[in-house]
Formats: sequence, C-alpha cells, structure tokens
Amino acid sequence: MASFAFYISQYHYLGSSRNQASIFMRYILALSILTILYSCHSYKAINYPFPDPVDTTDRPIEPQVKKTYSTPYGVYADNEYDGARLNDFKAINDTVYQATISPENFPINASAYFSLRMWADTEKDIELQLHYTEHEHRYWPKLSYDRETWMLIDSTAFDTLLSPSIARLQLHLSPEKLYISGQELLTSGDVKSWADGIAARRHVTQSVIGQSKQGRDMLFLDICQGEPKKKDAIVIMARQHPPEVTGHMAMETFVEEIMEDNVLSNTFRAKYRILLYPLLNPDGVDLGHWRHSTGGIDLNRDWQYYHQEETRAVANHIVETVGRDKNQVLFGIDFHSTQEDLYYTLPADYYPSVKGLKDLWLSGIDEHFPDYTPDDQPGALNNPISKGWIYVQLGAEAITYEIGDETPRDFVRAKGRVAARELMQLLVLRD
Ligand SMILES: [Zn+2]
Repeated sequence: MASFAFYISQYHYLGSSRNQASIFMRYILALSILTILYSCHSYKAINYPFPDPVDTTDRPIEPQVKKTYSTPYGVYADNEYDGARLNDFKAINDTVYQATISPENFPINASAYFSLRMWADTEKDIELQLHYTEHEHRYWPKLSYDRETWMLIDSTAFDTLLSPSIARLQLHLSPEKLYISGQELLTSGDVKSWADGIAARRHVTQSVIGQSKQGRDMLFLDICQGEPKKKDAIVIMARQHPPEVTGHMAMETFVEEIMEDNVLSNTFRAKYRILLYPLLNPDGVDLGHWRHSTGGIDLNRDWQYYHQEETRAVANHIVETVGRDKNQVLFGIDFHSTQEDLYYTLPADYYPSVKGLKDLWLSGIDEHFPDYTPDDQPGALNNPISKGWIYVQLGAEAITYEIGDETPRDFVRAKGRVAARELMQLLVLRD
C-alpha cells in the first residue's frame, strides 16, 4: 500500500496536460502490476523455521520391475497392477515360495507394505514366505480375488516364527489370481472414482491443481455453497503416506457425513467452505511405496521448503485460495494410519483461531463410543509436518488423525462419521 500512496502523491504535482495524463495512466498501469505482484507474493506458502528442519531434496528411489514370475511347478506371481509391491520371486521347492519385499529407498519408516498376486495351473496348497530385507513384518495379510472383498488371512495360516523379517503364509492357490496384500488396494484410480462421486453432488467443484513428479493428477474438491468470499473454511487432506489405507477410509466417511442431506450437514455446508485434497502422494500409492514420493522423500516432512511437487502444489493452492477469497481456516485435518488409533494435536499453550475446539471435539467422539476413549497426543511444533503447517500458516486448529493399521473397518468408518458430526455441531453452533 506504500506504493499506492506514493503514486497518488506524485499525481497531485503533475497538473492536467495530455502528456501528464499519459504519465498518470502509466502510473496506474504500474500500480496495477505492483498490486498483482504484491497479491501473488502474499499468497505464497511461508517458509516457517520449524525447530527440527528436514532435508527434503530429492533422493533416488529403486524402481520396482513390473513382471510376471513363472516357476517350474506351475505356480506364478506378479506385480503388474497399481499398488503392487513385489521386488523378486522364486520357488524354494514345489510347495515353498519366496517373495522379496523391499522399500523404495533407505532409510525409511518401518512400513513394510507388500502386495502381489499368485495363481497356479491346478489347485495347490503352498507356503509363501515374505522376506523384508532389513525390515520387519508389519501388516496382517489380506486376501482378495476381486480387489473389492478382502479377507484377513486366518491366524493359523500365518506366522513370523522364523524371523521378524520373514512372514510365512499358508495359501490355497487355483488358476484364479489371488491378491495377497498388506492393506486393501486403494489406488489413485479408486480415489478418483470416489472423488467423482462426491463431485457429482451439488455445490462441489473438482479440479486438478497440479501434477505429481510422475505426472499424476493432484485432485482438489471445493465444497462450497454460494459465494466463497469471506466464508470460514476447513481443510481436509489425506494419503501423504501410501500404505495408510485406513486413514483414507476414515477420510471417506468423514467427508461423506459432511455431504449427507440432513439438517446438521446442510447447515454446515451452507455456512462453511470445505477444501479437500484426498490424495497427496498418488505416485507413491500406485507404485506401492512404503512411505515416500517419487522424489524419494517423506512428504510429511516437506512443509517448510516444499521441495516436492506434491507438497508444493497443495500448500500453494491452499494459501492462494484462502488468500484470494479471504477465507479464515478454522480447522485442518490430515488423515494417516499407524499401529493404534490416536490423534496428534496441538498442545494447550498454542492459540489457534478457535481456542478449545479440539478438546470439545474429542470429548464428543469419546461420549459417542462407550468402549473407546480417544488417545490425544499433543505435540509441539518440531518437524515440518502438515499439522504444524496448518497452525503456523493458517492459524487453524490442526489434527493428524491416525487410525490403526488393523482397526476393524466398520469402526474406522463409523468413527469417521462421528468425528465429522461432532466437528460440524461445534462449528455450526459457534457464535
Ligand atoms: Zn502417516
């Protein structure tokens, strides 16, 4: 605004000749350009100096060779589908088979995700050994023939007794391809189909805000009824970490509850704008990564310098959107999975725009489920993660919503709905 005052005061001394009028127009043009530049500058994501910065410049990843493996015993395995993770396969003998499962690079979080298909010329009982190189088994194996219906492998057909880094699975094979997977497959195509369903509803606009490093679309859904200007907003994001499928499931029902046609949801959507980024790491999801982007980086450590295309696209899009439309973001939630259900929250001595929202929200979830108590894990700003970024960049209450890897799926989905209802009630009743 200093520039604006400067140009106006110059004009007062210019008089009114034609030449001077032309000079004035040039000043106005310059002013407009400066205003645009100033606006753009002010809508860039900040580089907040987090106490524990992380180097998030690209690191090489080991590509997974896509292929079908044949053995002399009429038994086959492959990884030729999105979300697969199988790095090598061989027969030890006619009934024991070894699959090598390794991550995209090292060092890496212990998220030993695997996914392969197996089949045989004739019906056959075999043992499959999953070898995790330097890591330990994590995910309870799940089986499916159609990618839709998944069954947990029976506890009598699965152990890690040989070594924590070798899982033994007893399987019955047939000519039909059997998916054997650490988590249910929810690839970028599945997320797109789900997003298309949400986007088919009234007052929802879906767009692509950029591309991942390998050129996959970065999806955005703008759930906004009426004029976006000056609406208060919430931000929802998910799947920075590829195998965290239960976090995605919780996000789905959280959003579906917001989209319900009932008094609470309708009132909430009339009052608030919802910015939804359902898939932050589409490359990692489709490549069956354990943790990282194609840049070989944990995206949830990149919220300081935005070296990765995916983080940069989302951070800048949020800042530009709420800056342009003068939306105050009151609440931001990022869906993840870990061993147990818990909530990483802001400590009590932080001051988001709506103070006390988190405690009321968690006690509402608590009251709804008699046999479940939310595990609140407040943590100060440390690494450049999305929770800290939502607080320092947007001034909002910020939650990392963690769901256990093996939490029963019906509870994951029910809790996602209750979490949305409790949040909507608090925000609708606010002032
Ligand atoms: Zn995570």
